[in-house]
Amino acid sequence: MTTDRGGDVRLSGISKTYGTFTAVHPLDLTVPEGSFFALLGASGCGKTTTLRMIAGLEEPTTGSVLLGERDVTGLPPYKRPVNTVFQSYALFPHLDVFENVAFGLRRRGVKSVRGQVGDMLDLVELGDFARRKPHQLSGGQQQRVAVARALINHPQVLLLDEPLGALDLKLRRQMQLELKRIQTEVGITFVHVTHDQEEAMTMADQVAVMNGGRVEQLGAPTDLYETPRTTFVANFLGTSNLVPARFDGRSGDDLLLLRAGDAPLTLPTARNGAAATTGPVLLGIRPEKVSLVPATDAASVPDGRNRLTGTVRANSFIGVSTQYVIDSPVCAGFEVYVQNVERDTRLVPGADVVLHWNPAHSFGLDAAQDIDAGSASVEEDAAA
Ligand code: ATP
Repeated sequence: MTTDRGGDVRLSGISKTYGTFTAVHPLDLTVPEGSFFALLGASGCGKTTTLRMIAGLEEPTTGSVLLGERDVTGLPPYKRPVNTVFQSYALFPHLDVFENVAFGLRRRGVKSVRGQVGDMLDLVELGDFARRKPHQLSGGQQQRVAVARALINHPQVLLLDEPLGALDLKLRRQMQLELKRIQTEVGITFVHVTHDQEEAMTMADQVAVMNGGRVEQLGAPTDLYETPRTTFVANFLGTSNLVPARFDGRSGDDLLLLRAGDAPLTLPTARNGAAATTGPVLLGIRPEKVSLVPATDAASVPDGRNRLTGTVRANSFIGVSTQYVIDSPVCAGFEVYVQNVERDTRLVPGADVVLHWNPAHSFGLDAAQDIDAGSASVEEDAAA
């Protein structure tokens, strides 16, 4: 398929206010041409509003939307080279799959639609379903029709608003890979809105994590996961252990020395996201980066590792791994995920243990932030 890709999507100082409530604070964002870009955040963070401003369905209070060099801020939705796929597929129930996909071409008066519709159905792997009606399709198949129906218009940008929200988990996973394949094949810019961090990480080249109408951090999924810059990103994207600590000097230029209670810890200078190098700091470490041994085996822990002591509060066996919750004097509820290779049957609730990890996997965060921002329990409380 050949498409005039038309350049990056650029949001410049764009904001949206409803009365006295600011849904999106002034935002500068560039979505690179041809990329799969995700806007990720909890309900109410402003991601749909941002998407709707790109689509022209919502008028920005300030700022502008540019497609390449073209300012489209004042254009109505139908004059923008942009199509949107919503969570509710909104297919025409009385038309079959072929005619649903052909709809945009017919409306523009295109006479011979067979070739283009055939190509689109091949792209979404529904060639054999052309004569079915929407109610004869699964949710995932209907969503693929919705994608084909949008792409046949050759938009410069495809906007996807929680398109997989109505599907069950297994189908969601399949469709995530499917959408990624389609995007790679057509090469146009996809902007995808989701509250599901795994979905964003699986599909997107770049993820903007939104919170309270602002972008907290923008980057490739691996960078966001390995080097979160705020407690919200650390907790919202996967799970993080955040250990309250204090800076306690340095060892050369590359290593910061910390102390949590009595325990000495180290942090590579390059992985310190806190503004300061004195006073309090939160030392972050992901649960799968941590190893666990019974306290009686403490001597087996190699030198140079960060280590803490603790007691096992709970263990849950989930097949590929066992997840432990450890209460350490300096950090209650510390989570550790251990792959089930050789399971140590001594690691049961009540057992005294030593936690240890390679300091290179640690990250430092500003201690002035809410340590629980973005964590699942906080989100659930807020939603209740
Ligand atoms: P969700 O995943 O629940 O759709 P979201 O992150 O997409 O959430 P938005 O739909 O962008 O959030 O809404 C952001 C905020 O703006 C919310 O607090 C919402 O209540 C508010 N909002 C959205 N539309 C309007 C409106 N028309 N009038 C007043 N407030 C609105």
